[in-house]
Amino acid sequence: MAQMCVNAVSLRFLTSEFKAHYQRNNKQGGHKNLRCFPNCCNGIHASSGFCGSAVLVQISPTMPCNQLAVYAAFCPLNTAGQPQSLTYLRDIKTTEQLNALADKERDVHSPWYAGDCVNNDNGVYSINTFKRGWHYGWTSNRHMADTKHVLCVYVFERNKPSLDCCFWSCVGELMSPAFQLYCRRRAKGEKMFWHNEVLFYLKKRYQRNDMEKPMPYNILRDNDMGKIQCLTKCLDRA
Ligand SMILES: [Zn+2]
Repeated sequence: MAQMCVNAVSLRFLTSEFKAHYQRNNKQGGHKNLRCFPNCCNGIHASSGFCGSAVLVQISPTMPCNQLAVYAAFCPLNTAGQPQSLTYLRDIKTTEQLNALADKERDVHSPWYAGDCVNNDNGVYSINTFKRGWHYGWTSNRHMADTKHVLCVYVFERNKPSLDCCFWSCVGELMSPAFQLYCRRRAKGEKMFWHNEVLFYLKKRYQRNDMEKPMPYNILRDNDMGKIQCLTKCLDRA
């Protein structure tokens, strides 16, 4: 029986490893940049400025292909572990749509990263070659702090050999291992966040008539993600 071929290409990451957690900084102008993604630059951490690398993928066609184009995007996973992305296998997009999604000149926050072919013989593509920062605009709240994320790579094939053809089909996709985000730097809204957390905690305790229990100052003083999650869980149980 003929094997059903879903992907016209097979893909793999040449980037050695991804981490389970990445720090995401809130910068001016709405930049939300992942630090050290997917790894520190040449394995050496830069404590200021950009730290990170391009992502390399290798694409091997499993059948004769027309022109290929490679893109990548960060996206959250739903509770079933499925990426909530802007495209899926077999989607058809126009050249214009693809360009718009990855046009960093027009909009630095455009959601996609275009891949550059760096070795045609071996089908190696580099994503974010010029290391302009790994912006990921996903909006978090305290109920979504546990959300997992991936970097999805998509391969589009021009539908016809002719360069006049403006339609492309998604013929391959690849997901990085899942990771979580945390924010170390003091965000602008952090004071308000804690104010609300404490008010919420006090209200819950008042409702339970449990006022002699001490405030968790040790938890409130620190702002690392684990403690925030711990407090959030306490509040949810209260
Ligand atoms: Zn680093």
